[in-house]
Amino acid sequence: MAYDLSLTEEQQALITTARDFTKKEITPVAAHYDEHDEFPRDILKRAFETGLMNVEVPEAYGGLGGSCLDHCLIQEEVAYGCLGFNTSLAANMLGAMPVLVAGTDEQKQEWLARLTDGGEFAAYCCSEPDAGSDVAGLSTRVRKDGSDYVITGQKRWITNGGVAGWYTVLATFDRGLKHKGIAAFIVDAKSPGVKVGRKEKKMGQRASNTCDVIFEDVRIPARNLLGEENGGFKIAMKTFDRSRPWIAAGAAGVIRRALDESRAYALERKTFGVPIAQHQAIQFILAEMAIAYETTRLLTHKAAWLVDQGDLSSIISAYAKAYGADAAMRVTTDAVQVFGGYGYTKEYPVEKLMRDAKLLQIYEGTSQIQRMVIAKNLLGRG
Ligand SMILES: Cc1cc2nc3c(=O)[nH]c(=O)nc-3n(C[C@H](O)[C@H](O)[C@H](O)COP(=O)(O)OP(=O)(O)OC[C@H]3O[C@@H](n4cnc5c(N)ncnc54)[C@H](O)[C@@H]3O)c2cc1C
Repeated sequence: MAYDLSLTEEQQALITTARDFTKKEITPVAAHYDEHDEFPRDILKRAFETGLMNVEVPEAYGGLGGSCLDHCLIQEEVAYGCLGFNTSLAANMLGAMPVLVAGTDEQKQEWLARLTDGGEFAAYCCSEPDAGSDVAGLSTRVRKDGSDYVITGQKRWITNGGVAGWYTVLATFDRGLKHKGIAAFIVDAKSPGVKVGRKEKKMGQRASNTCDVIFEDVRIPARNLLGEENGGFKIAMKTFDRSRPWIAAGAAGVIRRALDESRAYALERKTFGVPIAQHQAIQFILAEMAIAYETTRLLTHKAAWLVDQGDLSSIISAYAKAYGADAAMRVTTDAVQVFGGYGYTKEYPVEKLMRDAKLLQIYEGTSQIQRMVIAKNLLGRG
């Protein structure tokens, strides 16, 4: 397939809109929301009004009808300002994605409209206290009761868990069946028996809301099942193939920010009578940062472009996610090094970049899990 990674005029305009929004609304307050561990509801409402949310929801359901690449362009810009904001937006689309992947027209009309008309958030409930990487090992149970389903279990680490209007939830009919027992459901957050549990005290990305969500005999109608009763695992994997480029785009954003901050500081800070930018050791760190940015961005765009061509190549999404997350961790750590002692304090933004970046290697499949996906593909078992 011939790649065309050139951006259209519309996409350039999208970048400008997202960049302006980030500069005005996010970057100046990112430290505040981090410090106060606070969810930036009002700012995200303005992001919604500006057209930076629900990007991949088709216009027929009130969304922007954007591509995966469009979405990645926005995610990179938002992440430049704050990865926590970026994660809140990405998790909303992650909650909606199973509905896009497997929902009926009726389900899309009902649930996506609540995001696009009402400005509600969605959240994706897969992980549990004892099952993160091992999705097939989840233990939230579902049973059929008449024409309803009844869900019982506890989900952990749910981004937007405490603020979402509805959830996509993975539950198993029989844990012994592993991935073949898993189904995906849409659950209204107001359903009796749904409880928001503890809020995590996180190292970074503290503007994002991460909570337990508990389901105590939650009764939901049959029409809230997504796809087939044994199709939940496949829906989850298809969702990850589409969502991992967003995380890689977030990595590109934080890498670019770390590079910009480091470059500016290196030109200003003097040691031994010259700006540290004149020391080759610092120049090489900056050069590595620039290489990491270009590589992450290219891989992200290729993965997103392939998603947009309908080629759900797990391996490219995994390359982009694994490379981008690891590069972001390395680059933000190096940014702290460039700043010396000041980098280790809250006087400058780079310590936050480093704390925020760590999560990129953990959520939506850890860096190890991405390598497992890649190795399986390489060895012909993908
Ligand atoms: C802030 C935050 C937000 C999150 N948001 C969401 C969300 O919105 N929705 C959601 O469902 N989940 C969410 N998650 C959960 C996230 O996806 C999991 O934390 C992640 O998948 C890892 O699972 P775990 O924490 O259980 O680690 P484990 O699976 O216990 O893994 C522990 C370690 O072992 C490694 N490991 C595991 N298995 C293997 C293997 N076979 N080979 C080699 N190494 C292995 C892992 O890479 C990791 O280093 C979030 C997590 C965090 C921290």
